[in-house]
Amino acid sequence: TKMVYYFGKTKTEGKGVGKDLLGGKGLNLADMTSIGLPVPPGITITTQVCADYYKAGKKLPKGLMDEVHEGVATLEKELKKKFGDNKNPLLVSVRSGAAVSMPGMMNTILNLGLTDESVVALANATSNQRFAYDAYRRLIDMFGDVVMEVDRDHFEHAFTAIKKKYNAGQDNEVPAEGLIELCNEYKAIYKKYTGEDFPQDPMKQLELAIEAVFKSWNTTRAVRYREVEGIRGLLGTAVNVQSMAYGNMGQDCGTGVAFTRNPSTGENKFYGEFLIDAQGEDVVAGIRTPQPVAEMSKWNKTVYKQLLEIKDTLEAHYKDVQDIEFTIEKGELFMLQTRNGKRTGAAAVKIACDMVKEGLIDEKTALLRIPANDLTQLLLPSFTPESKKNAKVLTIGLPASPGAAVGTLAFTAEEAVERTHAGEKVLLVRKETSPEDIDGMHSAVGILTSTGGMTSHAAVVARGWGRCCVAGAGEIEIDEKGRKIKVGGKTYKHSDVLSIDGSTGQVMEGSVETSEPKLSGDFAKVMKWADQYRTLGVRTNADTPKDSQRARDFGAEGIGLCRTEHMFFEEDRITSMREMILAETEEDRRAALAKLLPYQREDFVGIFTAMKNLPVTVRLLDPPLHEFLPHDPKAQKEMAEMLGVSPAKVKSRVAALHESNPMLGHRGCRLSVTYPEILEMQVTAIVEAAIECKKNRINAMPEIMIPLVGTAAELSLLRSKTEETIEKTKADKGYSGQLDILIGTMIEIPRAALTANEVAEYAEFFSFGTNDLTQMTFGYSRDDVNTFLPDYTRLEILPTDPFQSLDTTGVGQLVEMGVTKGRQGRNGLKCGICGEHGGDPASIDFCHTVGLDYVSCSPFRVPIARLAAAQAAI
Ligand code: PEP
Ligand code: MG
Repeated sequence: TKMVYYFGKTKTEGKGVGKDLLGGKGLNLADMTSIGLPVPPGITITTQVCADYYKAGKKLPKGLMDEVHEGVATLEKELKKKFGDNKNPLLVSVRSGAAVSMPGMMNTILNLGLTDESVVALANATSNQRFAYDAYRRLIDMFGDVVMEVDRDHFEHAFTAIKKKYNAGQDNEVPAEGLIELCNEYKAIYKKYTGEDFPQDPMKQLELAIEAVFKSWNTTRAVRYREVEGIRGLLGTAVNVQSMAYGNMGQDCGTGVAFTRNPSTGENKFYGEFLIDAQGEDVVAGIRTPQPVAEMSKWNKTVYKQLLEIKDTLEAHYKDVQDIEFTIEKGELFMLQTRNGKRTGAAAVKIACDMVKEGLIDEKTALLRIPANDLTQLLLPSFTPESKKNAKVLTIGLPASPGAAVGTLAFTAEEAVERTHAGEKVLLVRKETSPEDIDGMHSAVGILTSTGGMTSHAAVVARGWGRCCVAGAGEIEIDEKGRKIKVGGKTYKHSDVLSIDGSTGQVMEGSVETSEPKLSGDFAKVMKWADQYRTLGVRTNADTPKDSQRARDFGAEGIGLCRTEHMFFEEDRITSMREMILAETEEDRRAALAKLLPYQREDFVGIFTAMKNLPVTVRLLDPPLHEFLPHDPKAQKEMAEMLGVSPAKVKSRVAALHESNPMLGHRGCRLSVTYPEILEMQVTAIVEAAIECKKNRINAMPEIMIPLVGTAAELSLLRSKTEETIEKTKADKGYSGQLDILIGTMIEIPRAALTANEVAEYAEFFSFGTNDLTQMTFGYSRDDVNTFLPDYTRLEILPTDPFQSLDTTGVGQLVEMGVTKGRQGRNGLKCGICGEHGGDPASIDFCHTVGLDYVSCSPFRVPIARLAAAQAAI
């Protein structure tokens, strides 16, 4: 099979080959070449070669270098340059490029092909000695670092010394003789740390570089990035070998990165930065401060105009925002890269809406463009205008990724991870972040850097995750060792709280008040479109009136799960609850339950009112009773005093309720089998609340859900009890109107799914409790799974955490069977899901496919579920 694909004027072979093989960068280079954009020609080595390299125990496959030779020969002919030539040498860049872009994860080598001989030729050919040796020193540095793992600091020290010697403030102020001297020192460093001379055969350089790119696929940071991003199933990385365009030949040269629209806000305005007389990573690395692209017209009007035209061409071609890299060589523009631009959730929404308006895409495409999970970012709090008025602004950095973050200060990634684990909210404060900081960045509530621009590592990664980030706050002096910062003449230590506003770049003292977001503008429009296309209903899991109202504001069409146990934990209630648990006779138990009834009724009235005209599924008590009792002796003693019993009695009751496997123990419907009076109290409270609402002309629509059913007989028994209680309560209250309370069950035990046709005889609805269903299908304790799950995902035994994203192959079969058999038992049986998976886009897609009627998720995920449901239907 073909391993190498050429792109250039001579031919472009990669068209139609696809991203999987060419990688994103390789495919887009081929694409841009074929639509006539100025792209330096080159070759792409496929991702399959990377896979083969690893399969063969890290050996380049046979014949690869022959194909590379052939490609280079074509390149030489097209450009009339020669690899390693002593007159007109060809130089190339070598870059990685997987099918999914991984910013900052993989390494780049520029100016490959330079040797002691060809550097002289380059100097002569370009009449620019400074440039030639600048290119050479970069090559030795990058090659040494990436291929031979020479610590970059060695090179940097040498460079600093040379700059000092020649009195150069900036890199590009070092004169030619200084760079010649530097190249010699670099070669000496190279030899000292590798034990070898810097390779003088360009083909050898190329071969080693190709291998280094393959190796970088499996570095810890690349693996970790894929883990964090959930990127799986890729073959490997492709390698792009592209002829060089030089941005560092003088003042008429430059390089830059830009987005066709603002990736932070979505505004339709060309957005980016460029540096004059610079090469490659200079912009991203933040070595010099770049200028905004808008200022480019002052420098070179023609190039700026051309760049704007290319921006439009690219958007018309890809119909999406592009993130581009370009270089200007002696006034001539070259495109080095394009890819779909990473953007914040807010930008994704705005861009999708704008592009529909502009006629670039249709509504369905627009909906598919917005990663449902990214809507979380729009649902994050922002600082309230009032509190900001009074906030003390310490400094203003770049608004790199929007949001509001308040936290104490962590100075290393490890520290951020540890303190977050310990329950703290921290801001990660760094000069600039690097891929090694990924974990800490992910843990922190916000990221603050003192150097680096809008396209720096911190900014790009933070935007990708929607993590709040202020970058390049240059006035902040960071003392990492002393764990403190100095800004505005004041010192803040690690335990001090700061607030950062990622939308304005402000860094503020103390904890500034935040406010909840609203659905409006473009967001509302996207939600409206989503509702038009989705067929799944979206409900919420809520057990307070406040959460119910919030979910309703976010578009919830009812409550799919109201967990009643949460209501028993408040001050007065827990006492009656404990009294009930301690009771030795049914009579005592009933007396304690009677005290709980008014509380429950009140709770339900509140929730039914917030959810008027919408169904509310109330689940009867689910957890094992011991969860309501204290376990340490001191608390047990207090409880005994409060209830007027002996501490020994409390202790013995706690001991009696102890179970080896509580999640498989006396819980769910099993409680109601043993203590039917609990069911009676809860059902009575539900019915009384509904009647009270009806009297106030509030249409309450309760549904009663019986948890943890495994056999039809269990449900049959409890259904009768429920029906009797409903009738009795109506009679007691003298209520003769309609109530239409549905009675249904959760399907969360595998046996219930297997016998769903029988269970459905007694259930008017099913709600899949996929938390327990996953627990019991895998046999993984959902509360202890973190002891081994990280190993399971790391070793790819499991593709993802099955408690977060439904295991469609295994657990999914039980869901599908439950629906199918359930509807065999009862025509048109209403089916929903209320496990955590109900808010996960991939799981929602599955729910749509197997024909569920609705999903139910936490209030903040309701908009995400609405969008994901639409995406599933499109
Ligand atoms: C479930 O098991 O999926 C469920 C929703 O119930 P809980 O998480 O309360 O056990
Ligand atoms: Mg459950």
